[in-house]
Amino acid sequence: MLDQIRQFERAARALEPDASCRKKLRGTVLASTERFLRGIDTLPGYVEVGDPGRGLLDVPIGEFERSPEEVIELLETEVFRPGGNPASPGHLAYIPGGGLYHSALADFMAAVTDKYAGIFFTGPGPVQMENQVLRWVADLVGYPGAAGGNIASGGSLATLTAITTARHAHRLRCADIPSSVIYLTSQAHHCIEKALRVAGLGEAQIRYVAVDDRFRMRAEALAESIVADRRAGLRPWLIAAAAGTTDTGAVDPLNDIADIATRESCWFHVDAAYGGFFLLTEYGRATLRGIERSDSVILDPHKSMFLPWGAGIVLVRDVKLLLAAHGEAAETPSPLGSYLQDAQRSDQPPGIEVPPGEISPSDVSLELTKPFRALRLWLPLVMLGTGPFRAALDEKLLLARYFQREIAARGFVVGPEPDLSVVTFRWAPPGVDLEESNRLNQAIVDGLRRDGRIFLSSTQLDGRFTLRMAALGVRTHLQTIDQALRILSEQVAALTSAQGAEIQ
Ligand SMILES: *Cc1c(COP(=O)(O)O)cnc(C)c1O
Repeated sequence: MLDQIRQFERAARALEPDASCRKKLRGTVLASTERFLRGIDTLPGYVEVGDPGRGLLDVPIGEFERSPEEVIELLETEVFRPGGNPASPGHLAYIPGGGLYHSALADFMAAVTDKYAGIFFTGPGPVQMENQVLRWVADLVGYPGAAGGNIASGGSLATLTAITTARHAHRLRCADIPSSVIYLTSQAHHCIEKALRVAGLGEAQIRYVAVDDRFRMRAEALAESIVADRRAGLRPWLIAAAAGTTDTGAVDPLNDIADIATRESCWFHVDAAYGGFFLLTEYGRATLRGIERSDSVILDPHKSMFLPWGAGIVLVRDVKLLLAAHGEAAETPSPLGSYLQDAQRSDQPPGIEVPPGEISPSDVSLELTKPFRALRLWLPLVMLGTGPFRAALDEKLLLARYFQREIAARGFVVGPEPDLSVVTFRWAPPGVDLEESNRLNQAIVDGLRRDGRIFLSSTQLDGRFTLRMAALGVRTHLQTIDQALRILSEQVAALTSAQGAEIQ
């Protein structure tokens, strides 16, 4: 048996490269990431998937090794380039991400040390750091000391946590669901309805509250709708407002909505996945006023803090409600196994007792195993300070306004003045009917994608095919916006000459 153990140990050695192997492997990987970053200014915002060439699927996962060089080349050609490139300055579609380098290195350190971040007992440092980061965000939002939260993988999961907490806090039973009412607008992110369904609330009533001409929830319409529902014997329960919608960046009148939520005893949730970190700016604080009165809020650091994908924060004004909805049933001994008993002793020996306030992430979320996510936010914040983030967000706000002014000057019809950093616009020259202009704008967005240098996305607003430009990439600066304006003019010129040719 001992011989066999030693034999397996030797065969498994490759899983633990020694210092010289590590150096070589690291060198190959870093060389690839440096190639990527050296070309970042000209990396297309979108690369169309070309003819299926060698392809990822032609390299099957097999029993034996492949050289790092071969594998990295495969990644560079087949994985890193095709599709949208959120790390590129030209990615102006959807809500761009960031790919902050400090966070990439933080992820590397978190993975090498493999610190566990779910429970204080085994991960005191990571848990303390998560709580510190959450406290910082709670202060930014303006929540009281009793608030708490969780760093999830993204806004959708954060939303599910908030909805589940709201359901629990309002003690909705199955029989209550068909008569309970949720208020949002047609501009709300679809992850809210998804979360409702997953949380067992699919049979609840949904009211789409009317929006004003800037796509913001109309507070009077909300108030009227709640009164009517109460009169009809229904149970108004949850108001979900947006601090920056995905489509247009609209910020609902949070303070007015907070008044209504308080008066009507509704849970007030704010979706600040995109807009939340604009609170770092003076403009953002004024625009998002009232957010501090919400019961729960979500913010995506992988959007407005420029992190690589995989970080969404949920905060709940009263952390006790979050704990009640997600903690392991603490009061009654659970029949579900005892393998966590060392971490759950109430008489922890000196040195490992949990300091007051150090809530374990596993008690406030669905995750038990949890990667060390806090580090990817903490490291850049602590190393760089908040100043550069504030400056970058102020920059994006101004870039959006500049783009709107300049694209209007080029003859495009523009949407409302942006609340944050999303601009909507469309090509609709006089004398062209709606159907034809919808077709032209579709042609523009398709042309841009084929060209690739900048990547814009489109949406439907009031039945019109509309283009949208979202300035949020960490590397998106004035130069890119000027380039986007030039390329859009080129697209229009191409359309006009194609039309001319058709007429002849
Ligand atoms: C992106 C976004 C979400 C969803 O967040 P994910 O991180 O993509 O899961 C929710 N709401 C708004 C307003 C968003 O922009």
